[in-house]
Amino acid sequence: MKKLLALVLLFIVVVPTVQAYANSGLLDGRIIILDAGHGAGNSPQAPGGYLEHERMLYLANRIRPLLEAHGATVHFTRPTSTMVHQGTRAARINMWALEVLLHYRERELAYTSDTTRLQSEIFEIERYITLMRSVANNPDSLAPIYFNIPFDESRTRVAHPTLRRMMELQADPIISTRFLVISLHSNAASSTGVSGADAFYMSNNDPRSVVYFNNYTNVELSRYFATTLLRGISNAGIRNRGARSANWLITREHNLPAVLVENGYHTNPQDRALLQSSDFMQRLAQEYVNAIITYFNFVGPIVDISLPEIEAESAYSVLTLTKQVLSDTETFANLPETAVFRMQRLLRVVIFRGLRPPNPLQGDTCGGQTPAAGTHLR
Ligand SMILES: [Zn+2]
Repeated sequence: MKKLLALVLLFIVVVPTVQAYANSGLLDGRIIILDAGHGAGNSPQAPGGYLEHERMLYLANRIRPLLEAHGATVHFTRPTSTMVHQGTRAARINMWALEVLLHYRERELAYTSDTTRLQSEIFEIERYITLMRSVANNPDSLAPIYFNIPFDESRTRVAHPTLRRMMELQADPIISTRFLVISLHSNAASSTGVSGADAFYMSNNDPRSVVYFNNYTNVELSRYFATTLLRGISNAGIRNRGARSANWLITREHNLPAVLVENGYHTNPQDRALLQSSDFMQRLAQEYVNAIITYFNFVGPIVDISLPEIEAESAYSVLTLTKQVLSDTETFANLPETAVFRMQRLLRVVIFRGLRPPNPLQGDTCGGQTPAAGTHLR
Protein backbone atom coordinates (compact mmCIF):
# COMPACT_ATOMS: atom_id res chain seq x y z
CA MET A 1 0.00 0.00 0.00
CA LYS A 2 2.81 2.30 0.91
CA LYS A 3 4.45 1.40 -2.39
CA LEU A 4 1.30 2.23 -4.29
CA LEU A 5 1.02 5.54 -2.52
CA ALA A 6 4.63 6.32 -3.35
CA LEU A 7 3.98 5.46 -6.98
CA VAL A 8 0.94 7.73 -7.13
CA LEU A 9 2.92 10.51 -5.49
CA LEU A 10 5.74 9.96 -7.95
CA PHE A 11 3.36 10.46 -10.85
CA ILE A 12 1.84 13.56 -9.34
CA VAL A 13 5.23 15.08 -8.63
CA VAL A 14 7.29 13.83 -11.56
CA VAL A 15 4.97 13.78 -14.54
CA PRO A 16 4.28 17.53 -14.75
CA THR A 17 8.04 18.18 -14.41
CA VAL A 18 8.75 15.79 -17.24
CA GLN A 19 6.19 17.56 -19.41
CA ALA A 20 7.64 20.95 -18.54
CA TYR A 21 10.99 19.69 -19.82
CA ALA A 22 9.71 18.07 -23.00
CA ASN A 23 12.72 16.78 -24.89
CA SER A 24 13.59 19.04 -27.81
CA GLY A 25 15.78 16.25 -29.16
CA LEU A 26 18.54 18.71 -30.13
CA LEU A 27 21.08 16.86 -27.98
CA ASP A 28 19.70 13.34 -28.24
CA GLY A 29 22.43 10.79 -27.73
CA ARG A 30 25.09 13.36 -26.77
CA ILE A 31 26.94 12.83 -23.52
CA ILE A 32 28.30 15.85 -21.67
CA ILE A 33 30.72 15.36 -18.81
CA LEU A 34 30.64 18.33 -16.44
CA ASP A 35 33.62 18.64 -14.12
CA ALA A 36 32.88 21.22 -11.43
CA GLY A 37 36.59 21.51 -10.58
CA HIS A 38 38.24 21.50 -7.15
CA GLY A 39 36.12 20.57 -4.11
CA ALA A 40 35.71 21.56 -0.48
CA GLY A 41 39.06 22.07 1.19
CA ASN A 42 40.78 22.49 -2.17
CA SER A 43 39.04 25.58 -3.39
CA PRO A 44 40.40 29.10 -3.73
CA GLN A 45 38.57 31.64 -1.57
CA ALA A 46 37.94 35.25 -2.44
CA PRO A 47 36.43 38.24 -0.65
CA GLY A 48 32.71 38.22 0.02
CA GLY A 49 32.80 34.54 1.04
CA TYR A 50 33.22 33.49 -2.59
CA LEU A 51 34.05 29.78 -2.90
CA GLU A 52 35.07 28.56 -6.34
CA HIS A 53 34.06 24.94 -5.78
CA GLU A 54 30.63 25.95 -4.52
CA ARG A 55 29.86 28.43 -7.33
CA MET A 56 31.07 26.08 -10.07
CA LEU A 57 28.93 23.22 -8.74
CA TYR A 58 26.05 25.70 -8.65
CA LEU A 59 26.71 26.51 -12.31
CA ALA A 60 26.94 22.81 -13.24
CA ASN A 61 23.61 22.22 -11.51
CA ARG A 62 22.05 25.07 -13.53
CA ILE A 63 23.44 23.68 -16.81
CA ARG A 64 22.42 20.07 -16.22
CA PRO A 65 18.59 20.28 -16.44
CA LEU A 66 18.81 22.52 -19.51
CA LEU A 67 20.97 19.94 -21.29
CA GLU A 68 18.74 17.08 -20.22
CA ALA A 69 15.74 19.00 -21.56
CA HIS A 70 17.40 18.75 -24.96
CA GLY A 71 17.91 15.00 -24.63
CA ALA A 72 21.55 14.91 -23.50
CA THR A 73 23.00 12.62 -20.87
CA VAL A 74 25.02 14.49 -18.26
CA HIS A 75 27.73 13.02 -16.04
CA PHE A 76 29.24 14.87 -13.09
CA THR A 77 32.80 14.04 -12.06
CA ARG A 78 32.07 15.79 -8.74
CA PRO A 79 28.39 15.58 -7.85
CA THR A 80 28.67 17.18 -4.39
CA SER A 81 30.93 19.72 -2.72
CA THR A 82 33.17 16.88 -1.48
CA MET A 83 36.55 16.91 -3.19
CA VAL A 84 37.08 14.13 -5.74
CA HIS A 85 40.64 12.93 -6.42
CA GLN A 86 42.00 14.08 -9.80
CA GLY A 87 42.81 10.46 -10.64
CA THR A 88 39.23 9.43 -9.92
CA ARG A 89 37.95 12.11 -12.30
CA ALA A 90 40.33 11.06 -15.07
CA ALA A 91 39.50 7.38 -14.53
CA ARG A 92 35.74 8.05 -14.62
CA ILE A 93 36.01 10.00 -17.89
CA ASN A 94 37.89 7.13 -19.52
CA MET A 95 35.50 4.59 -18.04
CA TRP A 96 32.36 6.38 -19.29
CA ALA A 97 33.77 6.62 -22.81
CA LEU A 98 34.85 2.98 -22.88
CA GLU A 99 31.49 1.77 -21.54
CA VAL A 100 29.74 3.38 -24.49
CA LEU A 101 32.34 2.01 -26.91
CA LEU A 102 31.89 -1.47 -25.43
CA HIS A 103 28.17 -1.26 -25.93
CA TYR A 104 28.57 -0.46 -29.62
CA ARG A 105 31.27 -3.07 -30.16
CA GLU A 106 28.99 -5.71 -28.65
CA ARG A 107 26.25 -4.62 -30.99
CA GLU A 108 28.61 -4.82 -33.92
CA LEU A 109 29.44 -8.37 -32.91
CA ALA A 110 25.94 -9.39 -33.96
CA TYR A 111 26.71 -8.52 -37.56
CA THR A 112 30.34 -9.14 -38.22
CA SER A 113 31.88 -12.27 -39.63
CA ASP A 114 35.23 -11.28 -38.15
CA THR A 115 34.19 -12.18 -34.61
CA THR A 116 37.69 -13.11 -33.43
CA ARG A 117 39.14 -9.63 -33.82
CA LEU A 118 36.08 -7.95 -32.41
CA GLN A 119 35.77 -10.37 -29.51
CA SER A 120 39.36 -9.75 -28.46
CA GLU A 121 38.82 -6.00 -28.67
CA ILE A 122 35.71 -6.36 -26.51
CA PHE A 123 37.71 -8.29 -23.91
CA GLU A 124 40.35 -5.59 -24.04
CA ILE A 125 37.82 -2.79 -23.52
CA GLU A 126 36.24 -4.73 -20.64
CA ARG A 127 39.66 -5.05 -19.05
CA TYR A 128 40.25 -1.30 -19.26
CA ILE A 129 36.85 -0.53 -17.81
CA THR A 130 37.61 -2.78 -14.83
CA LEU A 131 41.02 -1.16 -14.50
CA MET A 132 39.58 2.37 -14.60
CA ARG A 133 37.04 1.39 -11.97
CA SER A 134 39.89 0.24 -9.72
CA VAL A 135 41.79 3.47 -10.33
CA ALA A 136 38.66 5.52 -9.54
CA ASN A 137 38.19 3.60 -6.29
CA ASN A 138 41.83 3.61 -5.28
CA PRO A 139 43.33 6.78 -6.78
CA ASP A 140 46.08 7.33 -4.22
CA SER A 141 47.98 4.22 -5.23
CA LEU A 142 46.82 3.64 -8.82
CA ALA A 143 46.33 7.09 -10.40
CA PRO A 144 50.08 7.94 -10.36
CA ILE A 145 50.74 4.81 -12.43
CA TYR A 146 48.30 5.49 -15.28
CA PHE A 147 48.01 9.27 -15.23
CA ASN A 148 50.39 12.20 -14.99
CA ILE A 149 49.65 12.60 -11.26
CA PRO A 150 51.35 14.32 -9.54
CA PHE A 151 52.19 16.42 -12.58
CA ASP A 152 55.73 15.86 -13.80
CA GLU A 153 57.19 19.38 -13.70
CA SER A 154 60.28 18.29 -15.67
CA ARG A 155 57.89 17.44 -18.55
CA THR A 156 59.82 14.33 -19.52
CA ARG A 157 57.13 11.82 -18.63
CA VAL A 158 55.35 10.01 -21.46
CA ALA A 159 51.80 8.69 -21.27
CA HIS A 160 51.44 5.13 -19.94
CA PRO A 161 50.98 2.52 -22.75
CA THR A 162 47.60 1.54 -21.31
CA LEU A 163 46.42 5.14 -21.40
CA ARG A 164 47.74 5.47 -24.96
CA ARG A 165 45.78 2.42 -26.02
CA MET A 166 42.62 3.71 -24.33
CA MET A 167 43.07 7.02 -26.16
CA GLU A 168 43.49 5.15 -29.44
CA LEU A 169 40.21 3.32 -28.83
CA GLN A 170 38.50 6.61 -27.95
CA ALA A 171 39.51 8.11 -31.31
CA ASP A 172 36.53 6.22 -32.77
CA PRO A 173 33.91 8.67 -34.13
CA ILE A 174 31.30 6.69 -32.18
CA ILE A 175 32.91 8.38 -29.16
CA SER A 176 34.03 11.73 -30.57
CA THR A 177 30.60 12.58 -31.99
CA ARG A 178 28.90 11.84 -28.66
CA PHE A 179 31.13 13.13 -25.87
CA LEU A 180 32.16 16.57 -24.67
CA VAL A 181 34.09 17.22 -21.44
CA ILE A 182 33.81 20.64 -19.77
CA SER A 183 35.70 21.63 -16.64
CA LEU A 184 34.32 24.63 -14.75
CA HIS A 185 36.53 27.08 -12.88
CA SER A 186 36.91 30.70 -11.92
CA ASN A 187 40.32 32.33 -12.00
CA ALA A 188 42.49 34.28 -9.57
CA ALA A 189 45.14 36.95 -10.05
CA SER A 190 47.23 38.96 -7.59
CA SER A 191 45.85 42.14 -9.15
CA THR A 192 42.13 42.81 -8.68
CA GLY A 193 42.13 44.66 -12.03
CA VAL A 194 42.49 41.45 -14.06
CA SER A 195 39.14 40.22 -15.42
CA GLY A 196 37.62 38.03 -18.12
CA ALA A 197 37.09 34.42 -19.15
CA ASP A 198 39.59 31.93 -20.62
CA ALA A 199 39.11 28.53 -22.24
CA PHE A 200 41.85 25.92 -22.64
CA TYR A 201 42.20 22.79 -24.77
CA MET A 202 44.95 20.27 -25.54
CA SER A 203 47.06 20.76 -28.63
CA ASN A 204 49.50 18.38 -30.35
CA ASN A 205 52.27 20.93 -30.79
CA ASP A 206 52.30 22.74 -27.47
CA PRO A 207 55.93 22.33 -26.31
CA ARG A 208 54.68 22.09 -22.72
CA SER A 209 52.77 18.87 -23.38
CA VAL A 210 54.07 17.38 -26.62
CA VAL A 211 56.37 14.86 -24.90
CA TYR A 212 53.60 13.34 -22.80
CA PHE A 213 51.20 12.68 -25.68
CA ASN A 214 50.83 14.35 -29.08
CA ASN A 215 48.14 12.43 -30.85
CA TYR A 216 44.93 14.00 -29.57
CA THR A 217 42.37 13.53 -32.33
CA ASN A 218 39.86 16.20 -31.31
CA VAL A 219 41.98 19.35 -31.08
CA GLU A 220 39.95 21.22 -33.70
CA LEU A 221 36.65 20.26 -32.09
CA SER A 222 37.86 21.30 -28.65
CA ARG A 223 39.12 24.60 -29.99
CA TYR A 224 35.83 25.21 -31.77
CA PHE A 225 33.90 24.67 -28.55
CA ALA A 226 36.31 26.86 -26.53
CA THR A 227 35.90 29.72 -29.01
CA THR A 228 32.12 29.36 -29.28
CA LEU A 229 31.64 29.18 -25.53
CA LEU A 230 33.77 32.26 -24.82
CA ARG A 231 31.59 34.27 -27.20
CA GLY A 232 28.56 33.13 -25.20
CA ILE A 233 30.19 33.99 -21.88
CA SER A 234 30.98 37.48 -23.17
CA ASN A 235 27.32 37.84 -24.29
CA ALA A 236 26.41 37.10 -20.67
CA GLY A 237 28.73 39.88 -19.49
CA ILE A 238 32.24 38.50 -18.82
CA ARG A 239 34.99 39.63 -21.14
CA ASN A 240 36.46 37.14 -23.64
CA ARG A 241 40.22 36.70 -23.07
CA GLY A 242 40.53 34.12 -25.84
CA ALA A 243 40.85 30.37 -26.29
CA ARG A 244 44.29 28.77 -26.22
CA SER A 245 46.13 25.52 -25.62
CA ALA A 246 47.20 24.49 -22.14
CA ASN A 247 47.99 21.33 -20.28
CA TRP A 248 45.41 20.53 -17.61
CA LEU A 249 44.68 17.10 -16.21
CA ILE A 250 41.00 17.17 -17.08
CA THR A 251 41.75 17.79 -20.76
CA ARG A 252 44.95 15.71 -20.93
CA GLU A 253 44.26 12.20 -19.61
CA HIS A 254 41.80 10.96 -22.23
CA ASN A 255 41.04 11.53 -25.90
CA LEU A 256 37.59 13.14 -25.85
CA PRO A 257 36.84 16.68 -27.02
CA ALA A 258 37.49 18.70 -23.86
CA VAL A 259 37.77 22.28 -22.64
CA LEU A 260 38.70 23.79 -19.28
CA VAL A 261 36.92 27.10 -18.71
CA GLU A 262 37.83 29.92 -16.35
CA ASN A 263 34.51 31.76 -16.00
CA GLY A 264 36.03 35.12 -15.09
CA TYR A 265 38.27 36.19 -12.21
CA HIS A 266 36.87 35.83 -8.71
CA THR A 267 39.62 38.22 -7.57
CA ASN A 268 38.02 40.94 -9.72
CA PRO A 269 35.08 42.69 -7.97
CA GLN A 270 32.92 42.97 -11.13
CA ASP A 271 33.44 39.36 -12.29
CA ARG A 272 32.94 38.09 -8.73
CA ALA A 273 29.67 40.00 -8.29
CA LEU A 274 28.36 38.37 -11.45
CA LEU A 275 29.47 34.88 -10.38
CA GLN A 276 27.71 35.39 -7.06
CA SER A 277 24.44 36.40 -8.72
CA SER A 278 21.96 33.59 -9.34
CA ASP A 279 20.38 35.53 -12.23
CA PHE A 280 23.75 35.78 -13.91
CA MET A 281 24.48 32.08 -13.32
CA GLN A 282 21.19 31.13 -14.96
CA ARG A 283 22.04 33.35 -17.92
CA LEU A 284 25.53 31.85 -18.08
CA ALA A 285 24.10 28.31 -17.93
CA GLN A 286 21.90 29.15 -20.93
CA GLU A 287 24.96 30.42 -22.83
CA TYR A 288 26.69 27.10 -22.10
CA VAL A 289 23.74 25.19 -23.49
CA ASN A 290 23.57 27.39 -26.61
CA ALA A 291 27.31 26.88 -27.18
CA ILE A 292 26.96 23.11 -26.68
CA ILE A 293 24.11 22.93 -29.22
CA THR A 294 26.12 25.03 -31.72
CA TYR A 295 29.10 22.76 -31.07
CA PHE A 296 27.24 19.53 -31.77
CA ASN A 297 25.74 21.03 -34.95
CA PHE A 298 29.34 21.65 -35.99
CA VAL A 299 30.32 18.07 -35.05
CA GLY A 300 27.46 16.72 -37.17
CA PRO A 301 25.26 13.68 -36.67
CA ILE A 302 26.17 10.99 -34.19
CA VAL A 303 28.18 8.22 -35.84
CA ASP A 304 26.49 4.89 -35.37
CA ILE A 305 27.34 1.43 -36.61
CA SER A 306 25.27 0.54 -39.63
CA LEU A 307 22.93 -2.34 -38.93
CA PRO A 308 21.33 -4.45 -41.62
CA GLU A 309 17.58 -4.75 -41.44
CA ILE A 310 16.30 -7.72 -39.51
CA GLU A 311 12.71 -8.82 -39.80
CA ALA A 312 10.78 -8.92 -36.55
CA GLU A 313 9.32 -12.22 -37.74
CA SER A 314 12.70 -13.90 -37.99
CA ALA A 315 13.70 -12.50 -34.62
CA TYR A 316 10.56 -14.00 -33.17
CA SER A 317 11.21 -17.38 -34.75
CA VAL A 318 14.69 -17.38 -33.23
CA LEU A 319 13.18 -16.82 -29.81
CA THR A 320 10.79 -19.71 -30.35
CA LEU A 321 13.60 -21.94 -31.55
CA THR A 322 15.73 -20.98 -28.55
CA LYS A 323 12.92 -21.83 -26.23
CA GLN A 324 12.68 -25.27 -27.84
CA VAL A 325 16.37 -26.09 -27.70
CA LEU A 326 16.68 -24.91 -24.14
CA SER A 327 14.03 -27.43 -23.13
CA ASP A 328 15.43 -30.16 -25.36
CA THR A 329 19.15 -30.81 -25.06
CA GLU A 330 19.03 -33.46 -27.77
CA THR A 331 17.84 -30.94 -30.38
CA PHE A 332 20.51 -28.55 -29.22
CA ALA A 333 23.25 -31.19 -29.50
CA ASN A 334 22.17 -32.03 -33.02
CA LEU A 335 22.06 -28.47 -34.31
CA PRO A 336 24.76 -27.80 -36.87
CA GLU A 337 27.39 -25.34 -35.70
CA THR A 338 26.39 -22.77 -38.31
CA ALA A 339 22.83 -22.81 -37.00
CA VAL A 340 24.04 -22.22 -33.46
CA PHE A 341 26.22 -19.37 -34.66
CA ARG A 342 23.36 -17.80 -36.59
CA MET A 343 21.08 -18.21 -33.62
CA GLN A 344 23.57 -16.49 -31.35
CA ARG A 345 23.85 -13.59 -33.75
CA LEU A 346 20.13 -13.19 -34.17
CA LEU A 347 19.63 -13.46 -30.44
CA ARG A 348 22.03 -10.62 -29.96
CA VAL A 349 20.01 -8.57 -32.40
CA VAL A 350 16.80 -9.36 -30.56
CA ILE A 351 18.36 -8.45 -27.25
CA PHE A 352 19.89 -5.21 -28.49
CA ARG A 353 16.89 -4.19 -30.55
CA GLY A 354 13.95 -4.85 -28.39
CA LEU A 355 14.32 -7.10 -25.41
CA ARG A 356 17.48 -5.81 -23.87
CA PRO A 357 17.32 -5.98 -20.09
CA PRO A 358 17.70 -2.69 -18.19
CA ASN A 359 21.10 -1.38 -19.13
CA PRO A 360 23.43 -0.24 -16.36
CA LEU A 361 25.04 2.21 -18.78
CA GLN A 362 24.07 5.79 -18.63
CA GLY A 363 24.31 7.56 -21.90
CA ASP A 364 23.12 4.50 -23.72
CA THR A 365 21.26 5.59 -26.78
CA CYS A 366 20.88 2.49 -28.86
CA GLY A 367 18.15 -0.12 -28.87
CA GLY A 368 15.28 0.23 -26.52
CA GLN A 369 12.46 0.20 -29.06
CA THR A 370 10.10 -2.75 -28.85
CA PRO A 371 9.32 -3.60 -32.46
CA ALA A 372 5.79 -4.15 -33.67
CA ALA A 373 5.33 -7.59 -35.22
CA GLY A 374 5.90 -7.66 -38.94
CA THR A 375 7.78 -4.40 -39.09
CA HIS A 376 11.47 -3.89 -39.54
CA LEU A 377 13.55 -3.83 -36.40
CA ARG A 378 15.52 -0.91 -37.61
ZN1 LIG B 1 40.06 26.53 -10.44
